[in-house]
This record gives sequence, C-alpha cells and structure tokens, in this order.
Amino acid sequence: MKGGTTLTRAWSERAAEVTPGGVHSPVRAFLAVGAAPIAIIEGLGATVTDSAGKTYIDWIGAWGPALLGHAHAGIQEAVIHAARRGLLFGLASPAEVDLAERLIARVPGADMARFMATGTEAAMTAVRLARVVTGRAGVIKFAGGYHGHADAFLASAGSGVATLRLSAAPGVTEGAIADTLIARLNDLDSVDRAFDQRRGEIAAILVEPVAGNMGCVPPETGFLAGLRERCDRHGAVLILDEIITGLRIARGGAAERYGVTADLSLLGKALGGGMPLAAVVGRREIMSRLAPSGPVYQAGTYAAHPLAIAAALATLDALDAEPQLYAELEARGARLERGLREAAASAGIPLQLQRVGSMWTAFFADRPVRSWDDAEQVDRERYAKFFRALLERGVLLPPSAFECAFLSRAHGDREIDATLAAARAAFAEIAS
Ligand code: PLP
Repeated sequence: MKGGTTLTRAWSERAAEVTPGGVHSPVRAFLAVGAAPIAIIEGLGATVTDSAGKTYIDWIGAWGPALLGHAHAGIQEAVIHAARRGLLFGLASPAEVDLAERLIARVPGADMARFMATGTEAAMTAVRLARVVTGRAGVIKFAGGYHGHADAFLASAGSGVATLRLSAAPGVTEGAIADTLIARLNDLDSVDRAFDQRRGEIAAILVEPVAGNMGCVPPETGFLAGLRERCDRHGAVLILDEIITGLRIARGGAAERYGVTADLSLLGKALGGGMPLAAVVGRREIMSRLAPSGPVYQAGTYAAHPLAIAAALATLDALDAEPQLYAELEARGARLERGLREAAASAGIPLQLQRVGSMWTAFFADRPVRSWDDAEQVDRERYAKFFRALLERGVLLPPSAFECAFLSRAHGDREIDATLAAARAAFAEIAS
C-alpha cells in the first residue's frame, strides 16, 4: 500500500484534466458516495485490484457482464484465439450464426437475433422496430428504468441519471421525449392511464422485467403478465429489456423465470462476458422488418464484433456446462441476503435487502422499494457511509444507492463470509 493514495490521486488528477469528470461513464466517479474514485488494473474471479495495489471483493461485476467472474479462462482463451485470426472484417461470420441460433433457443418466443455493440443501440433499435410495425409513436417506460442514453429514454431515467440527481436531461429536446410516457413500476393502473392518455398511439411498453437501475426491484405477482395482456389488448409491442437479467437470472432470463413472452427482448452485459455485445431478439414478423430484409435501418461498424461473438459463445459453453449454476447462485445469494439482514438488524439499522438470484441491492429504508418513488426515499447518506466503510475493508459495492450489486460464479463462501464480516463492522460503524 506504500504510496497508494498518492498514486490514486495522481491518476485522478491527471484524468480530471483530460476527461470530463475524470471518467468515461459518470457513475465511475464515485461522486454520489463521497469517495475518491479508484482505477482498476486487474480483475481475477471475484476480485479487482486498483492502481494502488489494493485488492477488493468486487460486487460491481462490471455493472453486470461479469456473471462468470473476471478473467474467466474459457472466455479469455476464446477471445485470444479469435484475436489471432484478425480483429474485425466488417462482413458476416459463421460464428455469429452459431450464436444467433443458440441464443434464440434460450429466449421464449424468439425466432431471430440481430447483434450490436451496446445496450443503448439495442433499445433504440427495438423501439424503432415497434414504431414501424405498429405505425404509432408512443412508448411507455417506467420511472427509474434505464435503457441506455438515447434521447428518448433519458426521461425519468434510472442508473447514473438518478444517481447524479439529474432530473431533466439537458441536450434532449422536448420533441425527442414527446412520445415517451412515464408509468410507475409495479402499478398497472399507471400503465392504463398512459394508454388512455394517448389512445391508439402507443407502439410499445419498454420495461426492465426486474428493475436494476433504481437498485434491484422485482416485479410483483401479475405485473409482467399484466403488461403482456395490455400490449395484446392495445396492439402494442412488449419489449423486455433483459440487458441485465438475460442469462443472469435464469438460462432464458426473466422471460423464463416469470413465464412471460416478449415480442422483442434486449440482451447485453452477461451475453458478451465482458466484451461489447448486445442483441435484439424476437418474433420473426417483427425482426424481419430490419434492413436489409425490411425497411428499418440499423447498422454498426462494430456490430457482431468477432471477439465479442467468440466471448459470447464461450459464455454459453460455460453456462451449458454447468446447468446447476443458477441454483448455486440462488443459494449463495440467499446466504448473503440472510447474513446482511441479520447484521443490519443486530446493529438496529433498517435495511431492505432486495434480491433476485444474483442481483441484489441493500436499500437503507423502512419499507420495501416497489418503484422509483420508493427508491427516491431511501437514505442515500447512509448508503454512502456504508459504501465507504466497506471500501476501507476491501469490499467494493456499486458507488450508488440505485444500482444492483452482482454475485458471480466466482463469489464463493470465502468472499461471502469476508463481505459479511466487513458488513457487520460497517453497520456497527454507521449505526450512530
Ligand atoms: N438497459 C439496461 C437495463 C441497462 O442496465 C443498460 C446499461 O446499464 C442499458 C440498457 C444500456 O446498455 P449499454 O450501457 O451497453 O449501452
């Protein structure tokens, strides 16, 4: 640790000179938790090591992609092997066909897939498709839901937008969000009101089936089925944004876990195993409207990047080799949840530990968080203190009260026990 702080300060000071806020994505700045940001030089399994040489148990998990842990051997080898054959050709490859076939086999109701580099692009593409197939403009999204940083989705967005308390979205014109209607998560009446407000004009509902960008908020019984029913009744397209949940909470994502079939689904994060890869998958009659088989334009120099496709195939190989993984993640997640609940209770701290499989959030609140208006009430200051107390003890939580923490295949008993020990000390410290 000799000179660690100095080193950290040195890079962050240099970064602040040459990069806005010193980071390339806002929540990496640690502003919301009042801590100096760390810069990572290495990640192995469930840990990351910063530029000062300190190693942390990592619960950020690259914000979702690291389902199998950092530096997973199978993914690494696949990427290195692919890189040896050249990085990018800008033409089709047999491997991407393999991946499309294997992916649609996992997602209920999906017949076709289109790959791109980021989740933002996937959300833009799906909404554009929905508008063309319905001939309508309106999109219902949920307060606190995040679907990337395209203009239309920044209205009442979660994730970094919420973390930095940016209520409006400067640079986004009124026109760009005029067709975005905001409903309340887990509140079907609010969805009905949105349909009523723009009768016959709603193209799609865009929803994170388990909200991950206001912290982890599970769907209540009947909520997703209610969205499906309303889309059918009104002739709208149901878009499940499974960028976080896909492959993570079940083999076939939230669609499988909750028994709801989307018209279009978005995948990303865990799919690429750390490489930039996202996908829109869905019903043939909608997907085939994409150019060049249809009129809806979508393209990308880095779409279906060979290294990302290789990483995704290796990810599916690893998941297929371990069908018990989801049960294991559930069991380990439950143990962590129990331990954190008990530790908070014995320190007299009100805590809502919300978890779906390997996604979880510690909300400092008296009652469960069901939607964004509940999330807004949580004690952010206490979260920031908890974050700092854990960081000091070598445990790295997301630097925001409104993000999910992620358990990976590499988080075993050792990492869970160490996290619980650090949490007990942290709760005692912040109780007063
Ligand atoms: N959708 C969800 C649910 C997300 O969590 C994210 C990113 O956090 C996105 C879309 C955007 O994905 P990307 O950051 O790859 O553009």
